[in-house]
Parts: sequence; C-alpha cells; structure tokens
Amino acid sequence: MKLHEHQSKRIFAQYGIPIPKGEVANTPEEARQVAADLGRRVVVKSQVLVGGRGKAGGVKVANNPDEAEQVASKILGMNIKGLTVRKVLVDEAADIQQEIYLGVVIDRAARRVTMISSAAGGMEIEEVARTAPDKIIKVPIDPFLGLRDYQARQVAFALGLKGDHIRDFTIIAHGLYQAFLDTDASLAEINPLVVTGEGKLLAVDGKIVTDDNGSFRHQDLAALRDVDEETHSEAEARSFGLNYIQLDGQIGCMVNGAGLAMTTMDIVKLFGGSPANFLDIGGGASADKVAAALRIILADPNVKALLFNIFGGITRCDEVARGIVTALQQVPTEVPMVVRLVGTNEEEGRAILAGAKMQTASTLVEAAQKAVAAAKGEEYVPPPPPPLVVYAPKEHEIAMPPSGKPAARKITKPKPTKKAAKKTAKPAKKPAKPTKKAQ
Ligand code: GDP
Ligand code: MN
Repeated sequence: MKLHEHQSKRIFAQYGIPIPKGEVANTPEEARQVAADLGRRVVVKSQVLVGGRGKAGGVKVANNPDEAEQVASKILGMNIKGLTVRKVLVDEAADIQQEIYLGVVIDRAARRVTMISSAAGGMEIEEVARTAPDKIIKVPIDPFLGLRDYQARQVAFALGLKGDHIRDFTIIAHGLYQAFLDTDASLAEINPLVVTGEGKLLAVDGKIVTDDNGSFRHQDLAALRDVDEETHSEAEARSFGLNYIQLDGQIGCMVNGAGLAMTTMDIVKLFGGSPANFLDIGGGASADKVAAALRIILADPNVKALLFNIFGGITRCDEVARGIVTALQQVPTEVPMVVRLVGTNEEEGRAILAGAKMQTASTLVEAAQKAVAAAKGEEYVPPPPPPLVVYAPKEHEIAMPPSGKPAARKITKPKPTKKAAKKTAKPAKKPAKPTKKAQ
C-alpha cells in the first residue's frame, strides 16, 4: 500500500525526522485558512499517489493566503498521471539550499535492507541511477545489527555534509530505517531531504510503501488506505483476494499461481504478444473468484484476446470452468478466448466449456501462439514440425510382459539417410543388449 506524502511525513516525524509545519486541505478556502494560520510563505502540494508531481505542476509556492487559495483551486481537480487531485497539503515553504535523496529499500540481490542516498536529490532516483550511477551511495544493512552509526556517518561524508549536519543526518537516517522496519515497508523515502537557508535539515517530501503481506499486523495503517486512489479494477481484485497488476499489452491472462503467471507472460512475449495483466487467481479458486477475475480483465479496453492457463492441483479445473461460464453469462464478450486446462478434473472442465466459444490447447506453447494470433485477429496456423530427429521409443516398442511390469526399452536404431551413411565411415555402435537384471 502506498501512503500519501502527508501520511508518510507524519510517521517520519514520530521518528525524530524534522518535517515542515502544515495541514491537509480539501478546498481552496481550507487552503487559504491553513496558509493564514501558518502566517508565512507556503507550498501547496497535490496529494496523489504518484511521483513527479512537481514536474506535472502539482507543487506550487504561494506567498500569502490569497495566493494559496488561488493555487489550491488550480491544483484541486487537476489530473496527474491519471489520478484526480482531491486533497492538497499546505506546508510552510522551505528556503532550499541543497536537495538530497535518502531512501531505504530492500535489495533482493544483496538480500539486505539497503540505504540509498544521493547528493543529486529532488529528481527521481531512477533517473539518477540511469544518468549518473556514480552519484548513488548504497549501504547494505545487517538485519541483526541494524543501521550502525558509522554507516550513517559514511553516507553523510559521501554527501559532503559538514559539522552539525552530520549529526542531524545520522538521526534522520536512523529514524527512516526504524520507520521502514516498524511499518513493514518495502520503501521509505525522503526526496528531497533539504538543507535550508537557516542551515537545518528538513524532509520536504515523504513516501512510504508498505508490504501488503504485513498488513494484518498494521490495523493502525489500514485506516490510511486511500480507496479513491485505487482503480476500480485494483479495488475489486483486492476484495476478491486476487493478485492483479494491470499492464499495457493486449492479451489478458488468467492463471493460477504466481510462477505460472510469470511463465505465461514470458511465453506470450516469446511468441510476439504482450500481456495485458499479471493475474494470479491463487490456489483453490472458487467459481466466484474466477468470475471476478474475468470481469476485471474484460474491463480493460486494451484486451484483444484472453488466455486461460490453469494447472489443476488444489484448484479444480471444473470449478474454474464453471467460473468462466458464470462470468460469461454476466459479461458477454466478443473477445476471443484460448483455454488450456490441465490437471485435476480437466475432463470435467473441458466438458463444461464445450458449449462456450473457445479455442482449446493442450500445451502452453500452443495456447500462447493461439492467443497471440487471436489478438492480431489472425487465424492460428500450426507451425511445421521441427526438423528434429527424436530417438525415443514409440509406444508399441515398449513391450508389456504378462507380469505387468514394463520390459526394458528396446531402442531401435534409426535408419541412416544415404547422405549420413556416406559421411560416417564407421557404423554407429549397437545399443548394449539389456542385461538380465534389467529385464
Ligand atoms: P514530487 O515532484 O512529487 O517528488 O514532489 P516534491 O514534494 O518532491 O516537490 C517537487 C519539488 O518542488 C522539490 O524537489 C522542490 O524543488 C520543490 N519544493 C517542494 N517543497 C518546496 C518548498 O517548501 N520550497 C521550495 N522552494 N520548493 C519546494
Ligand atoms: Mn519528491
């Protein structure tokens, strides 16, 4: 879950991180009142859960309450990267001398929580990483020892901070690390952490992203969830316990299991298509859940074909098939569909789907190729058989003795073609005769 700037900064403040004074306003009049109460130059900031608000015109300085009201009336209702601004934060404006980036993230490769910092703050850290990777300072943190003072000081030195700023910075670094741990975050970030004209360090922006897997132990944070900021599809997916991430491709994927979902997306890509979403319906998905998943996928206007890839284990193929049929009654669609059902109750599943207009596939490769063709509005043409000679015994070559135990496999030597026979002077070695033991 992403927390808003004002929520993140309030949490940071509890950990000794200095933040500007300010209040949230829902209307231009409220913004004027907050500015009047603060009694000085303010900055009016859109509260939407995306970065780059500054660049988009969602952060503006106002010199007096009148200006604050005007600026707020412009920012409220503004659309920033697809999100409507419903609230603004009116903060005391800072006199910014220097902008620093400070973040705590999980570095999966290092298997450590890692503190990241850069003297090139203000802009997005991904941009710094791309254009000037040498300007990024990374400190892996030992999970048992936590952030050590010397590590925080090393970062401060590398940032070029001097005197009191070094001490202030270590307090902020410790606070940010502790806030990250206590909220079960996947990201805690101050961008920018500024050095002000008065020589103070101040967290001007803040961002926390919590790990939803830890949300059951954070009833305190649950109230901070902003449902306005979720797309309808995301909210519906969450309410049905579906793992859904919308992407910008054309092939909707409904899959059970995160690993299988990743594989499905890869294979769709491999055959020239692009997935419209990641969707894991999870194990033991009920018909209801499947129907919800289908509604969510079909709500995306980019979806030109649908690929169901279900590997029945705990999830029963017949249950999934019933879900698909139910959903198709609720949301009739012209979008072509390809289904691959394998595993528990696959026969029953296929029988249920027999009535629905759907292509079936027995392998994932075939399913992906069919879906890619369907998305392009093309007819699926099976590829010619690969020019491979497979030296595997055929069914009838495996003799079944009366004992019921399979006999040792008889390997028949492939007939060499004329060309091959000319090339190889020596005849191929005869396969070893099966020993008695093996029989
Ligand atoms: P973001 O663009 O969504 O990351 O929003 P930020 O809160 O980081 O604001 C963007 C930029 O606006 C900052 O990098 C600053 O340069 C500027 N800014 C933010 N707050 C203040 C302020 O109090 N005073 C001044 N002068 N500039 C500010
Ligand atoms: Mn920022």
